Amino acid sequence: LIVVDEVRKRFGDNEVLKGVSLNVEPGEVIAIIGKSGSGKSTLLRCINGLESIDDGTIMVGDAHVGTDEVRLRALRLRVGMIFQQFNLFPHLTTGRNVMLSPMVVKGMKESDAATLARDVLTRVGLEHKFDDWPDSLSGGQQQRVAIARALAMQPIALLCDEITSALDPELVNEVLAVVRGLAADGMTLLMVTHEMRFAREVCDRVVFMHHGRVHETGPSEEVFGNPQTPELRQFLGML
Ligand code: ATP
Ligand code: MG
Repeated sequence: LIVVDEVRKRFGDNEVLKGVSLNVEPGEVIAIIGKSGSGKSTLLRCINGLESIDDGTIMVGDAHVGTDEVRLRALRLRVGMIFQQFNLFPHLTTGRNVMLSPMVVKGMKESDAATLARDVLTRVGLEHKFDDWPDSLSGGQQQRVAIARALAMQPIALLCDEITSALDPELVNEVLAVVRGLAADGMTLLMVTHEMRFAREVCDRVVFMHHGRVHETGPSEEVFGNPQTPELRQFLGML
């Protein structure tokens, strides 16, 4: 579904991705782990076209993306991304936040967008908050609305960049439960996470990034149960 092939990305003199390859099957749930600065966020941003790449190719579905800037916008529409910060529009209700992109970007009719918004808010357990303001929701609820907003664009995959890192500990589980549900429903998920137990339980595969390369990868059980490289052993040990 997503093929990343020998992708290189540099910021000035700093080569952040040094030939990253990754193959994501439909329905696969992948955890991306690694030290700060190893290139995890940059990899996700390249996959959904927020960053252009210097070399290599990225394919999402049947769309070829290479270094072609023109196609980045199309890519962005096919892949949803959720960040640490929820970035909901404070002047719009929950329902309106979710309806906005389908209406503005896809030209969906208001009534259809409202139906869709109720549907995706139901999936994250927040249909009863449709008319509420973001400010009145907890951080966990706001992040679930952000997930619903991404789902409303009917992405073929969801990229999650440390989506529980800004939350109080007691709110982390409700967001992870939503992700777990999406995984069970067959959504293709790539998540950068520090929640190692969640990664082990829910993710099919783990990708360990180190200095801009995929240093070790494999089924979650193997990677956590029997890490092969000293770097990964050290990373897991220092958590
Ligand atoms: P963290 O765990 O802290 O989020 P990360 O693995 O997500 O780290 P990246 O955010 O991908 O790491 O950053 C990798 C490197 O690229 C870092 O050295 C960072 O300073 C650099 N970098 C990222 N974005 C930019 C940018 N827009 N301009 C310049 N340098 C950048
Ligand atoms: Mg990051």
